[in-house]
Amino acid sequence: TRKKLIAGNWKMNKSGTEAVELVSELVTQLGPQTEVDVLVCPPFTALETVSRKLEGTSLKLGAQTMHAERSGAYTGEISAPMLRDLYVTYVILGHSERRALFGETDEVVNGKVLAALKNELRPILCVGETLEEREAGETLKVVQTQLEGGLAGVDAAQAASLTIAYEPVWAIGTGKVATAAQAQEVHAFIRELLGARFEPSLARKIRILYGGSMKPDNAPELLAQKDIDGGLIGGASLEARSFLELVNAAA
Ligand code: 13P
Repeated sequence: TRKKLIAGNWKMNKSGTEAVELVSELVTQLGPQTEVDVLVCPPFTALETVSRKLEGTSLKLGAQTMHAERSGAYTGEISAPMLRDLYVTYVILGHSERRALFGETDEVVNGKVLAALKNELRPILCVGETLEEREAGETLKVVQTQLEGGLAGVDAAQAASLTIAYEPVWAIGTGKVATAAQAQEVHAFIRELLGARFEPSLARKIRILYGGSMKPDNAPELLAQKDIDGGLIGGASLEARSFLELVNAAA
């Protein structure tokens, strides 16, 4: 059975000082628990201080994006080796905000996924449909295109390092959460695609997170679904109390 993962995507929030306050509280409250994997993804500017705070704890550190190249003339960008240097182990890739606001195509996302794997970072590949696409009955088609596009060239030996996040765009930051049944349908479909892409036995090991207005009150039902292996949390990850409640809901 898959261990659940509760991941906080802080997005463009928290100064270094605020970040340390939040993780200090998380570290104290969580203690040495190992029942649930807990991951925080601060902005780049807070990675180093948060990394120091997390040393010797069970919490894991992730970044919110990265560039596919190792180094070079890419003003403003951060590479996989730079993240590794800060003991980052996960990286969110293809978040819908990156796709919609920063022009990331499936091809761009795929380059990043391959670069992350090559550098021993665990990608969290995000997929999800817009409201328009859902209403047009295109949800599964969109998810399939993003998943297959994002995973092009990934081989079976790398599959164990993957995490997928299903984040319906219409549920992100809107307070409109997908119903447990709506989410489970897509999660089961993703697992089926992963089985076809790799092998069913490998697909059973890959965690598929739900993201989009996940809160302590709706989490238990979502997390009880067969193919929902955790959450990628935006708003509710910015305060220790709600984030810890989500960790508890996954335990
Ligand atoms: P919210 O939890 O704020 O809806 O954000 C979800 C998300 O985009 C996580 O990556």
